[in-house]
Amino acid sequence: SETKDQLTAFLQSGIYRFSNSAVPVVFMDPVRVLNRSYSRVRVSPSTYYSRFFNSNVAADGVLRETELSSSSKKRKRKRKEKKSIPLNEREQAADQRHQQIRPLLLKAHECLIGAPEFLGVLRSLSGDSSSTAERRELTVGGTEPLFLELGKVWQAPLYDITINFPRPCGSNENEGDIVDQWCAQRVVPVFDNLVVNEIGDEVEAEFLSRKYVIPRQSCLYMSDLGKIHNLIPADPGSGFNLILIDPPWENASAHQKLKYPTLPNRYFLSLPIKKLAHSDGALVGLWVTNRERLRNFVEEELFPSWGVTYAASLFWLKVKADGSLTSDLDLFHHRPYECLLLGYCNGKGDGSELLSGMGGTMEDQIVISIPGDYSRKPPVGELLQKYVPGARPPRCIELFAREMIAGWTSWGYEPLHFQDSHYFLLN
Ligand code: SAM
Repeated sequence: SETKDQLTAFLQSGIYRFSNSAVPVVFMDPVRVLNRSYSRVRVSPSTYYSRFFNSNVAADGVLRETELSSSSKKRKRKRKEKKSIPLNEREQAADQRHQQIRPLLLKAHECLIGAPEFLGVLRSLSGDSSSTAERRELTVGGTEPLFLELGKVWQAPLYDITINFPRPCGSNENEGDIVDQWCAQRVVPVFDNLVVNEIGDEVEAEFLSRKYVIPRQSCLYMSDLGKIHNLIPADPGSGFNLILIDPPWENASAHQKLKYPTLPNRYFLSLPIKKLAHSDGALVGLWVTNRERLRNFVEEELFPSWGVTYAASLFWLKVKADGSLTSDLDLFHHRPYECLLLGYCNGKGDGSELLSGMGGTMEDQIVISIPGDYSRKPPVGELLQKYVPGARPPRCIELFAREMIAGWTSWGYEPLHFQDSHYFLLN
């Protein structure tokens, strides 16, 4: 019955903690975690999980990447790697790093595989739960705007976003359509401007005839790296306590180049992390790839230049709907895990005093989830809360964000990307 309670708790929270492991291991359903940012809408599981569940023939008849095609690609890759030449020095270092974490990842995966009642739940995560008839998807029109391109044209300052604030609860219960419930509108520039939803409820926004959902008490700033300085607080006492960063690292994948532009490493040295961080200290989380050259750059140049002291790592282990890993654990260039490096900034010393103040040392942790869209990371902010210094609730910001979270500030070229109403269902 303990398992049953845990399952019930998971269905509420989207987080399942495995207790039989040396390091903390959790399974996360990002859809449920994200849903905590909303009350009138919810994230559509079938849209979130479109990549790793079957039956992916979209309405337009295009077959998206399915488990089948990705595993056949994997076989090809594997065949190629078998006859590969011995590892060079850097590759050996990367392999050593991998060998160190490998037993922990295997153990974490065993936790998942060893919980058959949980595997059943896993298979049902992509379901939209209500029947198609009951499903009231928010209506949308037109094609998705290309924030990347629009933000660069000379007319960019002229583009406005319209925010529709809802009537206070109970004043007009016109169910199922948020549009009929708004009572105040705000029209503000969408680029290079802090767009704020200060109310305690999500609001609907319109931009170029598309609709977006803005979570309660959240902000977005859609701009190029050159404008990020506008987010630096005038008073360091109102800086951020949690800073999550998922940079557009350069890599060889042609697929990635089609998805978003990348930047050479030196550009990230100019991110004003110290100035964004709260004077009481901030926890900084940086997503990195498994490439050794990048790891060296972060350890030797980036973290030192940001004034960040490394504390621990969070590993994101990626599984498919059947619980199996998305690729072979030992596949050199295509590991089924990614890493979030965690460190402290603006501590009085090396940051350790921030930790001891919060009752202990930070340990590595593992988060297992089924991936969403290309390069989309699971919303790990909540799992880090207990390590975040400063007052509660902490002030949180995500850099290079493609989505928004209640209470957070999201900055980047496209923080509205996953806020498009086609990723949501009406409650
Ligand atoms: N964390 C995101 C998620 O989970 O969906 C993915 C972030 S992705 C790795 C990097 C993002 O940085 C992309 O949305 C890309 O458009 C954006 N980006 C690239 N160059 C940028 C620049 N010069 N200024 C601001 N954002 C940029």
